Amino acid sequence: EASTTRPARDCTRITPPYAKLVSNLEKVKRVLDNRPLTLSEKILYSHLTNPEEVKPVRGQTYLKLSPDRVAMQDASAQMAILQFMLAGMPTTAVPSSIHCDHLIVGHKGAEQDLVNSIENNKEIFNFLQSAAEKYGMSFWKPGSGIIHQIVLENYAAPGLLMLGTDSHTPNAGGLGAIAIGVGGADAVDAMANIPWELKAPEVIGIKLTGKLNGWTSPKDVILHLAGKLTVRGGTGHIIEYFGPGIDTLSCSGMGTICNMGAEVGATTSLFPFVNSMSSYLHATGRGPVAEAARQHANFLRADEGAHYDKVIEVNLSDLEPHINGPFTPDLATPLSKFAEVVKKNGWKDEVKVGLIGSCTNSSYEDMDRVTSLAKQAVEKGIKSKAGFFITPGSEQIRATIERDGQTGVLEQVGGVVLANACGPCIGQWTRDDLNDKEENAILTSFNRNFKNRNDGNATTMNFLTSPELVTAMSLSGKLTFNPLTDPLIDASGNEFMLQPPYGDNLPQNGFIPGNLSYTPPDISQPNPAIQINVDPKSTRLQVLEPFGPGPVGEFENLQVMLKVKGKCTTDHISAAGPWLKYKGHLENIAHNTLNGALNADNEQVNVVKNVFTGKEGAIHEVGREYQALGKPWIVVTDHNYGEGSAREHAALQMRYLGCPLILARSFARIHQTNLKKQGVLPLTFADPADWEKMHGGDVIESTEGVADLVAGRPGKNDTPEGGEILLNVRRPDGEKYVIKALHTMSKDQVEWFRKGSALNAARG
Ligand code: SF4
Repeated sequence: EASTTRPARDCTRITPPYAKLVSNLEKVKRVLDNRPLTLSEKILYSHLTNPEEVKPVRGQTYLKLSPDRVAMQDASAQMAILQFMLAGMPTTAVPSSIHCDHLIVGHKGAEQDLVNSIENNKEIFNFLQSAAEKYGMSFWKPGSGIIHQIVLENYAAPGLLMLGTDSHTPNAGGLGAIAIGVGGADAVDAMANIPWELKAPEVIGIKLTGKLNGWTSPKDVILHLAGKLTVRGGTGHIIEYFGPGIDTLSCSGMGTICNMGAEVGATTSLFPFVNSMSSYLHATGRGPVAEAARQHANFLRADEGAHYDKVIEVNLSDLEPHINGPFTPDLATPLSKFAEVVKKNGWKDEVKVGLIGSCTNSSYEDMDRVTSLAKQAVEKGIKSKAGFFITPGSEQIRATIERDGQTGVLEQVGGVVLANACGPCIGQWTRDDLNDKEENAILTSFNRNFKNRNDGNATTMNFLTSPELVTAMSLSGKLTFNPLTDPLIDASGNEFMLQPPYGDNLPQNGFIPGNLSYTPPDISQPNPAIQINVDPKSTRLQVLEPFGPGPVGEFENLQVMLKVKGKCTTDHISAAGPWLKYKGHLENIAHNTLNGALNADNEQVNVVKNVFTGKEGAIHEVGREYQALGKPWIVVTDHNYGEGSAREHAALQMRYLGCPLILARSFARIHQTNLKKQGVLPLTFADPADWEKMHGGDVIESTEGVADLVAGRPGKNDTPEGGEILLNVRRPDGEKYVIKALHTMSKDQVEWFRKGSALNAARG
């Protein structure tokens, strides 16, 4: 089924609407007195739904945006689609794609692993496929490749604004797109034509000068920056690259750099439109996109004199190869110092396994350069001393490197090609080479290296580096090996030095698509006749029921079930790990609700008393018991409730279990918005000290202000940010007190609350 040609691409839906974007931007520029803008601002502001009405200020203004496209991976797509189904729309408002990549386990090799993984997850894959066919989404089936590589090859474009339900979505910034990793509920906003909100990010400018050389590769730019910025340094910022050095980089190399911007917490990363992007677009059958971009080249670069909130300069000519880790991506060590670090820490001088590829580093350039090293080993009659695995990012890459001979050479040194999927990068890796919990070192060209991530073994030290260094060090089998200074031993026992890697950025004979059955058409039409079948007995999938409408008047008799003390992140509210398997089943995943929360009244985690029975139980159990009794319940929480991630389950589960209101000392903003989207009213204490007054077992007998809010009447003490709600509370002993609380509901959000959820509101 391998093919050498892919039918001509239809670029109509993958070319950003440049004329409209430029005209929108002109409106915003007028409001901003024509001050010069960074590229990040130009792309974001040109996607405003209300370009005439806002005067964006970085770090302050909330932008209402219309993304151009959505991409979802198989784990997070489940709840996104289940929610989208509630919108009752015949198709998605913007082109959307689903990628089956995270659920595929790497073990013996591509063919067998794929068969096993499809069998184990067929219910999920069938569900995703039928939803894609019904709504006209592009379905990339298991084995087709990893979401970010597929997006780069098919959908990313300069100036595009894209949302992806995966944190490494910024990979598309290598092709000049603003691509942001979000939770499923945000993706549903874009698919259901609900404006998507983002606080205008600040912009870090990275000025690149010089040119990479020798053993240094694009990966080293971001490994070096991760060390400088740390895992939090990019929070609330977009990282924008500029300077003469960018003209020396390949498009896929820029993708690698943007991909790993997620490791410093950046909202996204991007490069301006340059020639290598145009070459890449042509090579991947998207000449018309390249030409349209060329005609709008001024729009696709920062304005002269644009101001960055911070600038870091990196001279590519002086940059050293880096190795980052273990256990955190910002522990950056230049190669020349690494052997010293290994000795100082007393780590065993052994590379147990080397892994190359993944969404971060599986471009043609990466594969060609590592092959130039493997070829030298083959010529000297040696193989990799470490286990050696290759994860192609897409079927197109897999087929092209097979045709061009790279695969054969990599296999000759002992390489095993795994399926075109995430596999070992996301813990979907069955290792046969390790005794239980043995401390060992692996080198990967991936992007993350938290403990347990790759093989579930907390004593596996994962070091992140370039694919070139992974390959060289795997050949030597030594963690202290430095290919710039240390020789390898050939089959006859003689020393030889590896020559630095080299390779082509793009295949001289063009890409081939490989198995064409993996490639969906460029334009997928919806088919309303398709039934989305979800087995009612399934433990992994469950069709969602729309939530009921919000209150028409004041709330009455809200039971305070729990007062939470201290940190309560989205992980405390809806844990991951083993619960991931239930991401598509709200009832089942709701068993983990608040299971990490500390009850302030009894100092116990996930233990709360049912005031009606006097019995203690887990929080989700008592929530369900109250719900069965028809008693709405609330939780009182501490500061920054819901920090951590955009995980929509953390909001969905509370609403599902019957919680219509949460009263916090303060909220993490994304979670606060997620609560509003699911029809939960988030309130904060006007005086945070009042948190002390309230306890589980209290009852909010009535509220004052909710009726005005839902009726659209002005409240007594409204401010531009929101208004006041009074809570009349009764303690179990009958004593009464009043709490002054604040809401931050905008007009749109009140409509969500009235209708019961943002999706209900979208349905009208
Ligand atoms: Fe995420 Fe790894 Fe898959 Fe990339 S390869 S999408 S980082 S799990």
